[in-house]
Amino acid sequence: MPIAVESAPAPRTDPAAIPECVRRVRHGFESGKTRPIAWRLGQLERLRALLVENGDALVETLREDLGKPVLEAWAADIVGVAAEIKGFRKKLRRWMRPERVATPLEQRPARARIVREPLGVVLIIAPWNYPLQLLFTPMVAAIGAGNGAVLKPSEVTAHTSALLAKLVPEYLDPDCIALVEGGVAETTALLAERFDHIFYTGNGSVGRIVMEAAARHLTPVTLELGGKSPCIVDRDVDVAVAARRIAWGKFLNAGQTCIAPDYVLVHREREAELVETLKQTLDAWYGEAPRENPDFGRIVNDRHHQRLAALLKDGEVVVGGECDASDRYVAPTLLRNVRFDSALMREEIFGPILPILTVRDVDEAIDVVNRGPKPLALYVFSRDPGVEDAVVSRTSSGGVCVNATLWHLANPNLPFGGVGASGMGAYHGRHGFETFSHRKPVVRRSTRFDPRFAYPPYSRFKVWLLKRML
Ligand code: NAD
Repeated sequence: MPIAVESAPAPRTDPAAIPECVRRVRHGFESGKTRPIAWRLGQLERLRALLVENGDALVETLREDLGKPVLEAWAADIVGVAAEIKGFRKKLRRWMRPERVATPLEQRPARARIVREPLGVVLIIAPWNYPLQLLFTPMVAAIGAGNGAVLKPSEVTAHTSALLAKLVPEYLDPDCIALVEGGVAETTALLAERFDHIFYTGNGSVGRIVMEAAARHLTPVTLELGGKSPCIVDRDVDVAVAARRIAWGKFLNAGQTCIAPDYVLVHREREAELVETLKQTLDAWYGEAPRENPDFGRIVNDRHHQRLAALLKDGEVVVGGECDASDRYVAPTLLRNVRFDSALMREEIFGPILPILTVRDVDEAIDVVNRGPKPLALYVFSRDPGVEDAVVSRTSSGGVCVNATLWHLANPNLPFGGVGASGMGAYHGRHGFETFSHRKPVVRRSTRFDPRFAYPPYSRFKVWLLKRML
């Protein structure tokens, strides 16, 4: 029985109402309401209640939009956000404390500290692939840092967006947190407004539009973008473990994960074994008919389905390859004999198609990675610490996992973000708190002692003394 995914008309906020909505949040922020820790923790608790009390309904909308398996929806979109809330509730008081720093001898007597202050009103624009996680995780950080927030979920996952539009004003403080629904027109109207920070997650073309719009108001941005995340498999590797971990990272959410391994570069002596082990892994997980299996999701819309179907011709299908437009199904697919200059290797795949290319050695793999834009994630499977060191030190990427995929995203002590073409800025845990805070230096001098050295008249003796400090 195919999984039913349903298209729904994208709900919209009237663009004419957007300036007023942003004004309301700014007014709320300027009233000082968002600054006390009690308000911040209270809102985080309300967000937790929203997730707990509406978890089943949200999981259902994620199924309607993406055919998202129940476990994946709970794990990535609900439990993941709840874990972020938990971290903030535990540590926020500590993070908010002013940070004492040393004062150089010649500036004493004085004291110096860094105070974290909220930036103001922030705009959070989210994509469709993890519609709750990518909207609420940055929101937790924005609220935790004491900001007002305007949220813009993706119109592509319309069922989820509509439910969020109902729940957010019910649960969260409408004076300081607003949600705007819609697509290009509504986001364009939002981007015309002045914000104090814009946090955008999605593709790089829209990232450029966001950054241009932000530049008009000198608004700082965090851009969480995508790209092709390579996965290097060395000769010295535990193939069984590598196959399971690669398949998990790739086929979760039907491959629609920003840090999914996009393609594999395997040592040519291990290719056959890796392909065979991946094949057995997929058989064991999804059976002979993955289409009937509720643990495997669907492609988000027809446009992406057509795009993925066209990419299949760029290699030899060794597993999968079936597509059905009627329920936007693309089978978990392995491709080999793929050319480096094919479309498949030029654009981010963002679907359940895994090309496996061979390399002579790790140096060749590093060359391939360095020929492309800096990826969001880079994976290397090897038992050789020398290979690990070579990959970490000779490549640049948003993050790296050794003998794992996606794992770095789940550790809140690590900053999550891109570099170069894969984005700028980072969040998760304290890193998110810092992203949405201004680190304000404050110096306090004693008035009891006021040496005249720095004041005019500037004598030759003072210049001489100053030069002694060189
Ligand atoms: P999308 O189509 O939902 O777009 C993202 C947001 O941009 C939406 O809210 C949408 O309304 C808005 N938008 C779209 N066109 C716009 C325009 N012309 N002007 C203003 N706003 C516009 O999502 P997407 O971009 O297809 O998302 C997939 C991409 O996002 C992939 O490249 C993926 O790798 C990347 N991604 C990155 C991360 C990360 O954390 N770095 C996470 C998820 C996805």
